[in-house]
Amino acid sequence: MKLNLRRLKLHPHESERFLIATAGDDRFLAELGGKFAVLITGETVVENTGSVFAVRGQVKTKVQVPCSRCLQPVIFPVDAALELVLTERSKNTGFDLDEDFIIFDGDEADISAEIGQAIFMALPLVYLCSDDCQGLCPVCGQDKNNQPCQCKEDTTDPRWAKLNDLR
Ligand SMILES: [Zn+2]
Ligand SMILES: [Zn+2]
Repeated sequence: MKLNLRRLKLHPHESERFLIATAGDDRFLAELGGKFAVLITGETVVENTGSVFAVRGQVKTKVQVPCSRCLQPVIFPVDAALELVLTERSKNTGFDLDEDFIIFDGDEADISAEIGQAIFMALPLVYLCSDDCQGLCPVCGQDKNNQPCQCKEDTTDPRWAKLNDLR
């Protein structure tokens, strides 16, 4: 997703609105075994502050991720805020590059990576296909939502078992 700042560059202290509609890069979800289920959409307002371009916006999409208990795919809606600062390479000499500035050349600034990152950061740590998902049996691997299995889960704390042996 590229923002074309050609017009805004000529108008310091003005803002421009950009609509976002872009395919998500699945690499940002690879760690979760997930992928984007729909396009990423949203909008941003970019302000030319006179020295940098301040980007504020909101994006949303849906991702497909495995249920944390049973591993069945779940479609999960996600909303993320975008807050970025863009600076032109030819004008960035005065800035501290340790800060999170996105440097661009020419008229277009590519913010695809920042959008992917923002969505990844907005995802919860646990997703369930339903609140009462039974998950997989830790003994035989059966998906207990489909069919209960016959395994007896050993819920005895081994430390107590030891004590019982001593009695
Ligand atoms: Zn589940
Ligand atoms: Zn089982």
